[in-house]
Amino acid sequence: MVRGYKIATLGSHTALQILKGAKDEGFKTIAICKEGTEEPYKSFGVADEIILVKSFKEVPKLEKELIKRKAVLIPHGSFIAHMGIDEVMNLKVPYFGNKKILEWESDRAMERKWLKAAGLKLPKIFKKASEIDRSVIVKFHGALGGKGYFIANSPRDFRRKIKGHEKDTYQIQEYIIGVPMYIHYFYSPITDELEILGFDKRYESNVDSLGRISARDQFALESIDPSYVVVGNVPVVLRESLLPEAFRMGRNVVEESKKIAPPGLFGPFCLETVVTPNQEFYVFEISARIVAGTNPYIQGSPYSQLKYKEPMSTGRRIAREIKTAIQKKKTNLIFH
Ligand code: AMP
Ligand code: AMP
Repeated sequence: MVRGYKIATLGSHTALQILKGAKDEGFKTIAICKEGTEEPYKSFGVADEIILVKSFKEVPKLEKELIKRKAVLIPHGSFIAHMGIDEVMNLKVPYFGNKKILEWESDRAMERKWLKAAGLKLPKIFKKASEIDRSVIVKFHGALGGKGYFIANSPRDFRRKIKGHEKDTYQIQEYIIGVPMYIHYFYSPITDELEILGFDKRYESNVDSLGRISARDQFALESIDPSYVVVGNVPVVLRESLLPEAFRMGRNVVEESKKIAPPGLFGPFCLETVVTPNQEFYVFEISARIVAGTNPYIQGSPYSQLKYKEPMSTGRRIAREIKTAIQKKKTNLIFH
């Protein structure tokens, strides 16, 4: 039924649910693991084959082997983070996703252009520190990841807190007061259907534990800076009357992507938002691939349970799409 195709991915991020979902749909699976990190993929029995590498940078060298095995690569957050965008762009193994979108996703200015054109609300960006006239979050890029972020509320406050990091690349973003909400979508180019598969919020160190210290002690620990290093994800359900807006935003993003990077975004993607007390979604980022916030839903989410008769994780939904494309002879729509 799956004509000998195998599902392959890097052993990290969302590989467990991707490989489990693939097996549930009848595919054989391959996990590419960094030496010393293969235990979960063995222990949970999700990989039919494990290929060990010293570093994910070696993956392009495996191309011939993967093509010979009829592997389809499923990208996730570790691909760009550990292989690099050029290496991913140049991969010749069938790849589930539109690589042209990667360029839009990984360049902050292009990403904003896309989301703005889709009619979404975005936090204001301050080009110069002297323009800061409200609370802002200062985000560092690259190696610093979620570390070192800080909140400032005036140019003076900013200059005090940026000391020692003036040379790093960062963005000054309006700080939106509200709650974070990560929306997990799936768009099928075969049926033109947009699904919502779930929501999550992140569990970030140390910011999610600062509230466990009294204000008095927070003052005493003056030297503690908040950081936003993700260590886990927490499932959330959305207030139901906000669902129509969540669908509208997802649909607009897909339609706009068809204009900027034909044939457009497809498969899983995520809008990373903050929802204000006025029930407005501010989108601070898009991930044009599966996000790790879908990991709590290996047995399906409340939303996938409404739609599917069997447990449907995002990983399994990807495999289902590939299977449908193989059966309908439409793999040209989804392998890039
Ligand atoms: P890793 O393979 O864990 O090094 O992660 C690769 C990328 O995915 C990094 O940019 C991480 O910040 C991101 N990431 C990993 N796990 C999660 C998670 N549970 N939630 C959100 N983002 C994650
Ligand atoms: P990021 O590294 O962009 O994923 O941001 C890390 C965390 O900071 C997220 O989990 C959000 O909760 C929070 N955050 C990011 N951008 C904003 C913003 N503009 N306003 C308020 N909170 C934000």
